[in-house]
Amino acid sequence: MIRLHDTMARKKRAFEPADPKRITIYVCGPTVYGRAHIGNARPAVIFDLLRRVLEHRYPDSEVIYARNVTDVDDKIIASAEAEGVATSVITDRYEGHYLADMGALGVAPPTLAPHATREIGPMVAMIEELIAKGNAYEAEGHVLFHVPSDPQYGELSRRDRDAMLAGARVEVAPYKRDPADFVMWKPSADGVVGWDSPWGRGRPGWHIECSAMIRSHLGETIDIHGGGLDLIFPHHENELAQSRCAHGGAALARYWVHNGFVDMGAEKMSKSLGNIVTPAELLSQGHKGETLRLALLSAHYRQPLAWTDDLLDQSKAILDRWYRQLGDVEPFGEIAPFWEALYDDLNTPKAIAVINEFLRSSEQQPNDDHEFFQGNREQMQQAVAASAKALGLLTMSTDEWFRGKGDAVDIEARIAARVEAKTRRDFVEADRIRDELKAEGILLEDGAAGTTWRKV
Ligand SMILES: [Zn+2]
Repeated sequence: MIRLHDTMARKKRAFEPADPKRITIYVCGPTVYGRAHIGNARPAVIFDLLRRVLEHRYPDSEVIYARNVTDVDDKIIASAEAEGVATSVITDRYEGHYLADMGALGVAPPTLAPHATREIGPMVAMIEELIAKGNAYEAEGHVLFHVPSDPQYGELSRRDRDAMLAGARVEVAPYKRDPADFVMWKPSADGVVGWDSPWGRGRPGWHIECSAMIRSHLGETIDIHGGGLDLIFPHHENELAQSRCAHGGAALARYWVHNGFVDMGAEKMSKSLGNIVTPAELLSQGHKGETLRLALLSAHYRQPLAWTDDLLDQSKAILDRWYRQLGDVEPFGEIAPFWEALYDDLNTPKAIAVINEFLRSSEQQPNDDHEFFQGNREQMQQAVAASAKALGLLTMSTDEWFRGKGDAVDIEARIAARVEAKTRRDFVEADRIRDELKAEGILLEDGAAGTTWRKV
């Protein structure tokens, strides 16, 4: 039995899908106007793992995992204006980067990736229904959801009205009937991306996008709605209010699952604080995608994760050990305590510890009976390898894992980077690369024919 912490219930609950043949998950995806940082990668990796766990538990079920792409937004419009290009140039570029960066972390593409700009019809339809039911109103080209019309509003985030108004950074606008009312549709000025609607040319707000796309792709009530902790309020509270009111009180999701932040020092990693680290930067520094994935899985998903160099070093050391012992082992079978840990609200630190414990015991007493495998060392190694793979790790051969840094291709690439640094007269960087190679035992010799290298 899988147990998940449900934000609505404020406790762990046994997971029971509404239809065990068709399990539905929706996770709020990226707003595509910049490169994803490690904090953005955390939910992508966590929910990728949750999907794998559900597929393990319900092998005969179809797990439908939807992750949307927000490709209309004020920040996208501002980026497009700053570059003097169409918004689609910005959104295509950063969606491509997002898929490549998450792919490098072993995140499989979702079953469905609905795009906001392709779903304007369903959003307009839902807004019209909410107006007809008295939950929304039009004012000065805007359509607003009227918060006091929903007595259950605030149920997910459990905030009182003052905290809600503060948390939503409510914009005071003369056309609002209540300060907590939020925008579902807003007018677009000439030259700004927009669509015709019953309320004039405009564009949707962010919250209505998810409500409408969940309904059109997955249904009125889904099994699991996921995202980062920062989405509980106002985004998920607002999605929930819109869907509940449009659907006669039906719940939007049966379980609400939220992941904690990634911290840099004492602060949350965020674009607005300017303290971000991106997977792209880390990969270009030679870290492997699996190292970043293991680092992201090393803390329980609900806890904050402190992102440090030590964390990366430890994750790399663990994977080195796994690859040395398991990289070329054919995966087969299972270890019960590993799956018990994952079934218990995705307890990844425990699941990782189970793998390490099995490896330690096989190192220390290779011929002794193990309680699960009665001395069959090969069988045990196969089951441990299968467990590591179930985390989305151990995807390459031992040889591939240990090659890379320090091989001829890598050295040539760094020599090329040094030549490039010299041509732009960045001698500090050129010297840094030379010294870094020297520390690894590679000596560079500059001659008339270019730079050659030798190992010392
Ligand atoms: Zn959403």
